[in-house]
Amino acid sequence: MAARVFLGLGSNLAAPESQLKQAFDALASLPDSQVLAHSSLYFSKPLGPQDQPDYVNAAVLLSTSLSPTALLDACQSLEQQQGRERLRHWGERTLDIDILLYDELELTSERLILPHPQAHLRDFVLLPLQELQADLVLHNQGLTHWLGQCPSFVYHSRKLD
Ligand code: ATP
Ligand code: CA
Ligand code: CA
Repeated sequence: MAARVFLGLGSNLAAPESQLKQAFDALASLPDSQVLAHSSLYFSKPLGPQDQPDYVNAAVLLSTSLSPTALLDACQSLEQQQGRERLRHWGERTLDIDILLYDELELTSERLILPHPQAHLRDFVLLPLQELQADLVLHNQGLTHWLGQCPSFVYHSRKLD
């Protein structure tokens, strides 16, 4: 049976909005996978180093038969295809795809932690998630609970054309 997966996307280089649109299309082309929905675009201040452009963020709801590790491989390939370079921790990037939730799976391996360990602490993740599934639960609490505890990075959001 296919897994229900939420992905968090971000970009702040090389036309970020186009990067995210391209990523939505690329995700829809993954084997054994279907994009069920994507959120609006959210504009946010960077986490970490402040001497980098602001971010555009979104979330995607994917149905997939890929295993968690195969999905991570696929997401990292898409990052590479869209020119991601790792220059510094939490630094600028053309595309970041994090696996936020993979069904109800809890996993800690060398390459993958599920749910994503910081998802519930980031408004630029929680707001797009709320759009995709308002009653989603993270670490036994609803999204509104976590949003109430977040410092705000998001300053604008809008529907993608
Ligand atoms: P953050 O994970 O805090 O959002 P980041 O996205 O900038 O930071 P990356 O450089 O993109 O971090 O990824 C570092 C490593 O995180 C990846 O190589 C991957 O193995 C690991 N990782 C662990 N859990 C996850 C997950 N749930 N989704 C994506 N990558 C993960
Ligand atoms: Ca990330
Ligand atoms: Ca990442």
